[in-house]
Amino acid sequence: MSKAPSSAVVALLLAVGGPAAAQDMCSGYQSSINCIGKKRPLHNGMDFGGPAGSEAISATYGTVVERNFDECSGHGLTVRTDFSLYESPVYVRYAHVEGYPRIQRGVALKPGDPIGTLIPLRHTRCHGSRTHVHYELRVNGDPKRPIDPSPYWADGPGKVTCFREGMVVPPGKAIAPRRCD
Ligand SMILES: [Zn+2]
Repeated sequence: MSKAPSSAVVALLLAVGGPAAAQDMCSGYQSSINCIGKKRPLHNGMDFGGPAGSEAISATYGTVVERNFDECSGHGLTVRTDFSLYESPVYVRYAHVEGYPRIQRGVALKPGDPIGTLIPLRHTRCHGSRTHVHYELRVNGDPKRPIDPSPYWADGPGKVTCFREGMVVPPGKAIAPRRCD
């Protein structure tokens, strides 16, 4: 007769195999270590690793307000979301993502909508690292007013690292900007 596993074992199994597995989040909010284990300046976003060319998805409801290119942060998209903090709208910044051609200013998005693909990160200047999407929430779009995204995660703080088909994301909540492999 087999013994029931102890609660500690069950917790470990859930941590390894369940939806809470954080294998894709390679650098967290305010982490001092980047996706290749090197020291980094204060990190105001979260980085989700994945192969170059993998699809990034919208984490929230919102409207595209900017497509840009920066030598160090790479391609990127900025989206004004449907939620506000301190009376100000919250914006999402996705960096290292090449937007699909249709993802232009004014396009409305909902959680899970494809927005583009992860670009390869080869440069060693700037923040040389492995390929990832950088996801950052800013109050009023102000880079000096970043906020921790995890309280707005659809499954709770730190629980979701990728979007599962069929997942319901209520307005005012976010998901990680990559599909599950
Ligand atoms: Zn980052």
